[in-house]
Amino acid sequence: MHFVMRSDATDRDVGDVVARLEAIGAEPRVSSGRSRVVIGAEVLSPSDLADLAAIEKVVDGPVRLVERQIEDEPTLIRVGSVTIGDGSLTMVAGPCAVESRDQLFASAEAVQAAGAQILRGDAFKPRTSPYSFQGLGEAGLELLAEARETFGMPFVAEVIDPRDVALVAEYADIIRIGSRNMSNFPLLREVGRTRRPVQLKRGFTATVDEWLDAAEYIYAEGNHEVILVERGIRTFENAARNTLDITAVPVVQRRSHLPVFVDPSHAAGKRELVAPLALAAVAAGADGLMIDVHPAPDEALVDGAQALLPEEFADLMHRIRAVAAALAEA
Ligand code: PEP
Ligand code: MN
Repeated sequence: MHFVMRSDATDRDVGDVVARLEAIGAEPRVSSGRSRVVIGAEVLSPSDLADLAAIEKVVDGPVRLVERQIEDEPTLIRVGSVTIGDGSLTMVAGPCAVESRDQLFASAEAVQAAGAQILRGDAFKPRTSPYSFQGLGEAGLELLAEARETFGMPFVAEVIDPRDVALVAEYADIIRIGSRNMSNFPLLREVGRTRRPVQLKRGFTATVDEWLDAAEYIYAEGNHEVILVERGIRTFENAARNTLDITAVPVVQRRSHLPVFVDPSHAAGKRELVAPLALAAVAAGADGLMIDVHPAPDEALVDGAQALLPEEFADLMHRIRAVAAALAEA
């Protein structure tokens, strides 16, 4: 059972509902959104609280602050001079992993010249095999911070361990939760306690509802700057690494006020599929794209097969702008 408070409810009103619930033996869980508080509790007769006028409605089913059903204003996220979620297209690009200073700087220079606003590059990699390159750790974050200074680009980096959240939040402008960790609830809560924007990738076997529930874990902790990233799901089709669920873009944008990005690189797993998927994502109305770019993909320690060369990325950016301009005129 969920008690959805009116948007003008005060802390005292919330306290009154909590006290009443405790008095009848329930264990209230309070979650605060931007404009509303939702209180979850197992209650047999919610009519016992009918006299508390600050309760707007009682919902016997899933309620999520990340859904428009509760909060309707679009979530705008400001990172440096970039505003995410305002109807413009945000471009994030860079290597999958930080491998060296030269590799990172060459990538940053190239993606910035082509028009990307935010740099990607990971210092902690969730690898399928424990024997694969795991990332440079803090040294990688230091290189990213140096690249931010040099190129004036904010960066996003993944965190895979709750014990590293404070460290990654100290360096990164945006923290990312990867597909494999979408349901790592302690990690979600931990990033929810930071005040850094979070990119939440869709689990590769997660439904939209499960993805929104994961976002709710972050949001309900008080971190309201969540970006959802569709990165392909596992289906029976194995022509590409994953199947990009383009449908999820309009589905989630209708249901949620959070910005929705698409990562065509991790969906495709193959360089030649990245451009068509990226263009489809723009046409579908994605709020942003995140694309792997590497100066020498054949030498990449991670995900080289899907990384675009700098000139391929520059060419794609021209085509992305053309699609975006055509949509704006349509
Ligand atoms: C990544 O973006 O580098 C990554 C690991 O992607 P995903 O979590 O979507 O697999
Ligand atoms: Mn990768």
